[in-house]
Amino acid sequence: MVDVVIIGAGIVGCSLAYELSKYQLSTLVLEKENDVACGTTKANSAIVHAGYDPHPGTKMAKYNVEGNRLIEELAKKLSVPYKKVGSFVLAFDDADMDTVRDLYDRGVKNGVPDLQILSAAETLALEPNLNPQIKGALYAPSAGIVSPWELAIAMMDTAMKNGVQLRKSCEVTGMEKTEEGFLLHTGTGDIAARYVVNAAGLYSDEVHNMVSAPSFTITANRGQYYLLDKNQGDVVHHVIFQCPSKVGKGVLVSPTVHGNLIVGPDANDVSGRDDVSTTREGLDFVMQAASRSCDKVNYRQSIRNFAGNRALSEIDDFIIGEAPDAKGFFDIAGIKSPGLTSAPAIAVDVVRMLGGAGLPLTPRDQVVDRREKITFRELSPKERAALIAKDPRYGTIICRCETVTEGEIIDAIHTPTAPRSVDAVKRRCNAGMGRCQGGFCGPRVLEILSRELQLDPREIPQDKAGSAIVIGETKVREDIH
Ligand SMILES: Cc1cc2nc3c(=O)[nH]c(=O)nc-3n(C[C@H](O)[C@H](O)[C@H](O)COP(=O)(O)OP(=O)(O)OC[C@H]3O[C@@H](n4cnc5c(N)ncnc54)[C@H](O)[C@@H]3O)c2cc1C
Repeated sequence: MVDVVIIGAGIVGCSLAYELSKYQLSTLVLEKENDVACGTTKANSAIVHAGYDPHPGTKMAKYNVEGNRLIEELAKKLSVPYKKVGSFVLAFDDADMDTVRDLYDRGVKNGVPDLQILSAAETLALEPNLNPQIKGALYAPSAGIVSPWELAIAMMDTAMKNGVQLRKSCEVTGMEKTEEGFLLHTGTGDIAARYVVNAAGLYSDEVHNMVSAPSFTITANRGQYYLLDKNQGDVVHHVIFQCPSKVGKGVLVSPTVHGNLIVGPDANDVSGRDDVSTTREGLDFVMQAASRSCDKVNYRQSIRNFAGNRALSEIDDFIIGEAPDAKGFFDIAGIKSPGLTSAPAIAVDVVRMLGGAGLPLTPRDQVVDRREKITFRELSPKERAALIAKDPRYGTIICRCETVTEGEIIDAIHTPTAPRSVDAVKRRCNAGMGRCQGGFCGPRVLEILSRELQLDPREIPQDKAGSAIVIGETKVREDIH
């Protein structure tokens, strides 16, 4: 019997695992995919929102502002790429200026620090490539950009060093209430738990309905993006939003922590919750809408399009708390934007709620709370030479676009969350994230994975289960031995 089972290893599940790992508990995370951070957490705008958008008094407002503060701390402690670049919400007419003033007032009520309303001239002085027709902007210096999947992975790796267990490729298919807690049914056997936390993202309604009366429904709403090469990475230096509408925060243009430029998303309901395909119409809309903010982006430098699905519910807020008809079962559901920003703060509060529901919270004597990571391309020539002298594998460049070494790939493979696919390695050390998108380094990463783990190359997928790269030998002739 485990103390706590967390269903889902997105940013929410990983944040909770990290917080719970500070206590003397047995915690088990169950994830249906073959890696952590494979759902919405890997496909979003990657903005650490300042917190002026959610309505005062909502859970979204509270957790957004607190999460913004926590992510800055976590990024430092856990070596996660993060930059506090600040954001603008642009106004194009008088109605937009009214929205900007509303957002300013909301932000002040929510406790967002240092907000300012800037004139057009002040905004253009900071961002000369913006549309000169703007009327003004809301400036939020506390907004940032982060690598969402690296934040989730870093928290789960750290949690695992403190004893949390992770079971990947383990889908929860059913659950029963028992005398002591819950019995969870999975494809790989049953698991008994005292407390269960539902962090299943797009499937959080289905998981909720396994033990509690239906009270919300999740609709998947897709957002599509352009990711542009690094030569576009300084077209703008802040996160550039337009005024938000009912469906979301509008199309943004923003630098990424890896030095690229991201443009998107649109917003469209999709019937398949895992349908993250991109469409010509969606991408055309994104390009057109973004050109209103900035027409200096060269879309011929696009290196990837991708899409992520928002987990929208009919409740205009996050759904967080214990189910009234299933004591010991907690939902963290309907976690749409600003869910990435809010997740670390939600986790702190859910631990408090679990404590209130009887989970004994005795702090561990020793807690790992730091993560060191070698990033070769960020080292000085002297540091590089010293590293290579110690281990020559740091002297072999595998990903030429991003300057990622064999040593870094091997480090990534042997982290607690144990990546087993080419893209899982990419999410940990950037190999394959550059202009050629893994065309050069992909086969070499496959070889290193196969060698380090003593696996047949056919067992190593590109990403999720079933995305086989190698299916057999070529040029094999039965008659030649
Ligand atoms: C287009 C878009 C843009 C966004 N931009 C931002 C932004 O800039 N800033 C921001 O703060 N937020 C943003 N968000 C929101 C943010 O990305 C999400 O709130 C956050 O990623 C949700 O995390 P999660 O852990 O709840 O879900 P997920 O990351 O989807 O994780 C849920 C996990 O549960 C697993 N799972 C599901 N069912 C089961 C089961 N039965 N058994 C086991 N495992 C299961 C899934 O495989 C998945 O890994 C954006 C979202 C979208 C879609």
